[in-house]
Amino acid sequence: MARIFRFDASGCNGCDIEVLEATTLVSLAALGIEIAERPEDANLLVVTGGSNVKSRRELESAHRALQAPKTVVAVGSCAATMGIFKGGYAMAGPIDAIVPVDLYITGCPPRPQVIIGALADALHLNVEGMDELLRTPQGFRGNPHVDQAKCVGCGACAHVCPADAIEIVGDGAGRRVRFMHKDCIFCGSCQDVCPSEAVELRAGRKEWFPTKDASLSEAQLPARRCLHCGAPYLADAQVAWALRRLDEKLALGADRGAVERSLGICMECRRKDIGEVREAKRILASLARRPSAG
Ligand code: SF4
Ligand code: SF4
Repeated sequence: MARIFRFDASGCNGCDIEVLEATTLVSLAALGIEIAERPEDANLLVVTGGSNVKSRRELESAHRALQAPKTVVAVGSCAATMGIFKGGYAMAGPIDAIVPVDLYITGCPPRPQVIIGALADALHLNVEGMDELLRTPQGFRGNPHVDQAKCVGCGACAHVCPADAIEIVGDGAGRRVRFMHKDCIFCGSCQDVCPSEAVELRAGRKEWFPTKDASLSEAQLPARRCLHCGAPYLADAQVAWALRRLDEKLALGADRGAVERSLGICMECRRKDIGEVREAKRILASLARRPSAG
C-alpha cells in the first residue's frame, strides 16, 4: 500500500485543486493508495508550488520523516521551476533544490487525469481498465509538440512564450527550436502564432518526466549560409518558406532567382554598402511595391 503525504510548498493553489480533483476521479483505495496525515506515515511526497523561505524547512523535515523507499513527485511548473514566482524575494528554489525529485508532472496546472497517471507510474500501480477514467476530455490543452518537418525556425513561438519555455539556439550547424515542457503553462500562444502550423498542444495521457532535461523536445534545422560572407544566418527552411510565400503573394516569375539570391545575404552583410548588397536591397525593396497576386 502506498501512502501519500501532500505538501503545498507555495503557489496559487491551482495545482492543489487539481490534486484534490484527482483524488475524486478514481477510487484511491482500489489503486492501493492511502492519504497520510503525517509524513512519518507516508512513503510518497506529492509537492505543489516552488519552495519559499518558510516552507523550505518544513519540506526538508517532511522528506526526512518519509518512510523508505521515499518517492517525491513535483506537481506543476512551479514545483519544477518556480514558474511565475521565479525571482521572487521569498522564494528558496524549485523543489529539487531542496529535496530529490523522482517525477515531474508538467502543466499550469496539470490535469487530474495526468496526476493519477503519474502517481500510478511512480508507484508502479496497475491502472489497467481505467483508460476511460484517465482519458482527458476533448478540448483540454497539454504539452506543445513541434513538427520538425513543418517548423521553419522563425522563432515567433519563442518571442511570444510568456513562460520562457521556448529557446532558439543557433550555431554553425543550424538552428534548434527547444521546447522545455517543465516551464510550459499550456497557454497556446506558440500554436496560435506559428506561421507554418508546426506546433500543436496535445492533451496527451503521459505528461510527466523523470528529469527536467527529459522534458525537452526540439526541432533541429540546418542553417542557410550567407552567399556573401559564408556565415550561417537563418534556418534554411525559413528562407525557403519566405521565398515560397513571396512567390504565392507576388508571382515572382522570372525574378525568382534574383529574389532568392537577395534573400541569401545575411543581415550583417546587408548593412554594408557593397554593390551586390545594394542590388539585393533594391530587389527586396521593390517587392514591397508590387501588387499582390492573390
Ligand atoms: S503553450 Fe507555448 S507559448 Fe504557452 S507557455 Fe507553453 S511553450 Fe510557451
Ligand atoms: S515555425 Fe513555428 S515552431 Fe518553428 S520556430 Fe517558427 S513559430 Fe516556432
